[in-house]
This record gives sequence, C-alpha cells and structure tokens, in this order.
Amino acid sequence: MLEQTATSLVDMISSGETTAEYVIEQTIKQIEDTSQIHAFLHVNKGAVQQAKEIDRRIKEGRRVGRLAGIPVSIKDNICTKQYPTTCASRMLDGYTPPYDATVIRRLLDEDAIIIGKTNMDEFAMGLSTEFSAYGPTLNPHNPDIVPGGSSGGSAASVATHTSTISLGSDTGGSVRNPASFCGVVGFKPTYGMISRYGLISYANSIEQIGPMAKSISDISLCMSVIAGPDRNDNTTAGLTSVLFTDTHDVAKNPKVGIVRQMASNDNRIQNVLDKAVERLSAHGCTCEEVSLEMVDYSVAAYYTITSTEAASNLARYDNIRYGYNMDHTGYEYHQYITKARAMFGAEVKRRIIAGGFVPSAGYAGRYFLKALKVKSRLTREIDKMFESYDYLISVTVPILPFRMGEKVDDPVSMFLVDMNTVTANLTGKPAISIPYGMVDGLPVGVQMMANTTEDAKLLQFAQILEEGHTQ
Ligand code: GLN
Repeated sequence: MLEQTATSLVDMISSGETTAEYVIEQTIKQIEDTSQIHAFLHVNKGAVQQAKEIDRRIKEGRRVGRLAGIPVSIKDNICTKQYPTTCASRMLDGYTPPYDATVIRRLLDEDAIIIGKTNMDEFAMGLSTEFSAYGPTLNPHNPDIVPGGSSGGSAASVATHTSTISLGSDTGGSVRNPASFCGVVGFKPTYGMISRYGLISYANSIEQIGPMAKSISDISLCMSVIAGPDRNDNTTAGLTSVLFTDTHDVAKNPKVGIVRQMASNDNRIQNVLDKAVERLSAHGCTCEEVSLEMVDYSVAAYYTITSTEAASNLARYDNIRYGYNMDHTGYEYHQYITKARAMFGAEVKRRIIAGGFVPSAGYAGRYFLKALKVKSRLTREIDKMFESYDYLISVTVPILPFRMGEKVDDPVSMFLVDMNTVTANLTGKPAISIPYGMVDGLPVGVQMMANTTEDAKLLQFAQILEEGHTQ
C-alpha cells in the first residue's frame, strides 16, 4: 500500500477502499522499521488522530482536500508551528517556530498529513547529509553510501515509503542531488514559483522549495497545491499561477540540447544519459550537443554568492534572538556571542568565514562582484540557448553516490559534485531529476531543464523519460 503514488492513494482513501487512518498507521510502522536510515528528526505523534478526522469527514460525505490523508514529510528548514524546526543545527535545538510556512498552510488546507520533519545538512549546506548535527541519513540502497543532500532525509523517506511526497529546498541542487542518489523524482521550480515564506534562508536570492515523489504526476499534484503567488513573498509576485494539472501544448518535435560541460567522466553514468537521449530521439525529439561555456565557472560563482548570503542570513543566530543554552552568566558580550556561534558545525563555519571575506572592501571586485557577473553571463547564455532549444539535458550528478566519510574533509571535491545542478539555481530555471538507471546497485538520475515559467510543460515532457525508466 505504501508503494502507491499520492494520486492513487487519494482515490483509494476517498472512495473508501482504504482509510487515511490505515495508511498513516502503516506509515508510522514503516518509519519505525526503517529507523536505522535516520531520515527523520521528528515524527508527528498526532498523525493517526489527524487521519481519523479526515476519515470521519469522508464518512459524513463532507468535502476533503486534494491530498486528503497523504503522508507528506518536510525538510527541517521549513517552518512548522506545531513541530520543531531545527535546520539540523544545535543552534536551533528544540526551536518551534511561531508560524507555518506558506507551503505548510497550503498542504494542510488540502488535508495532507505532515508525517514528520526530515534530516538535512546543517542549514542546507552540503550534499551528503553528513553535516547534520544529529548524525547522517543513510542511503536506502546501501547503508555505507550517502543519500545525497542537503535534503537527504526527504529523499530517503520517499525511497523507503515513509512519506509519499516530501518537500525539500534546493539552493544549488539539494532536491535534485538526493533525489538522484536515492532513486526518486525531485523538482526545483522556477525561482519565484513557490513562496519561500517560512523557508529558513540560506541563499535567498536563488533558492526554492521543491517536491520529491515517486512519480512526476505526484510532483504536479503537489505543485498544484503549493505553487503560486503569496503576498508574504514578493519574489512570487510576477508569476501568474501555472496550471500544473492541465495538459499543455508541447512542441511537436522538441529540440533538446545535451550540455557538453555537464558530461560525466564515468562511462557507466554517461551510458544512462545516452539511453535517455535515445528514448527522447525515438519520441521525435531532435537531440544535439550544445555548449554552455559559463558552466565551467558556475560552481565557483555559486559558492561565492551563497557564502556571502549565508554569512548575512546566519548573523541572526547570536544566541539572543535564537539560540541554544542561553545562560549568559559570567560572560562578556563578545565572549558570549563567540561561545554561541562556536556551536555551528565545521561546514557552516567555513561558509560564514568565506562569506565574510569575499564581499569585503578590497576583495569584492575580485570575488563577489565577479561571481555576480558570472551569474548574469550564464543567464544570458542559457536564455539564448532556450531561443533555439526547448529543453536541456544532462545527468543530475556526474559521479555515483559516494561512500560515507569519503568527502567530508575535502570541501572542494564536495563542491564539485554540484557541477550540473547549480546552473538552474543561478539562472532561476526549473529543473527536474528523474531516476533513469542503476550502476553498481546505486541509482543514477537524469536532469532536464526548461526555460523560466515552463515548469508545467517540463513536468509533462519529462514523463517520456519516466515511462522509459529502466531499473
Ligand atoms: N551543495 C550545495 C551547498 O552546499 C547545495 C545545497 C542546497 O541546495 N541547499 O550549498
């Protein structure tokens, strides 16, 4: 039952074929049975009660929402007023926000059940979930391997059927990377498509909340609930609501560009991409190699920009407004702040230090302003590309899911894993990762990008690959 998609579970629950209570009970049991994966930081104890309430309304013939009874898990950097929200950081240990994020309100309005909060890299900085202050999440396909990140708990929970849909956040690949490593679908929408109100900021100029699920139609269903303008987030203002459940006109013979700079050195991974390209060609797409020169500079620009924003966003964690162990007796002001900020993990500290330096007087021209130039040139380049091509394709991650501990002490090799994902963030484009094969028993995902606001079209088009998905 838990292997069902949200689309069919909703039908089964509302038609009386099963009950929300049963689905949620089974889910909680599955969370207990897979607890060694450590996908969750917090499990909702009231979920069964909430499910019973939905069943009661169905029995009484009252209207229920489009996600009635569906177990949805939420990355722990999205604010939930009934459950703790820690960003997997000691700094927010035990913190429960005073309000719900817009996406949470929209899910609850459609009667989704928030089943729990998922593990992540501290403050979403990382791509292996090893930087969680509460211990790593394991890859459900192999416990010695990382699940990807930073939304590793979310991807692992969808892969282990402990949630049918999960919300992650994607600043530089954090939805798509773990989706690829765990073998599920992950979607990073156009910047501004989903409200960030209640998403704890890391690099707010480029990040988006994004759904993960077992099927593309579940992603569309979720988008139809959470996307759209929100007066609490002005970056959503310019985009009219895209109709995610409608059928869209897709080009008859779409042109797909295979991005040369995103090729993998690993032939086994390239083979997965080749198969995807073959399938698209068999469906009448014209697929040809294209070159996006600025991609070579994208990772450097990405880390320069995101560290700068992170240093600024994380300045609020001073152990006065937010904090941990707030006993200040015997401390001078500066000592007290230092003691508190020493609580951040090594990766977060690195970002804060780098982010203080790169935009500073005398260096900004060499680093921060240069990174902004790369961002705008990359955007111009990709916009031009989308004048001639409908979609761009690559593998989601150029390497296989790696071993726990392999990269934790080598930040630069870790950063390079983001090579194929950061472009969509820097340019604001929608991008999806679809599981498309297995190499050595580990999943490999294929990424497709489309032009700004073409999210629904992209989701529809990507179904060609989903249908051809070979395990
Ligand atoms: N790995 C990238 C980083 O550490 C992406 C993280 C994300 O998308 N939140 O910044």
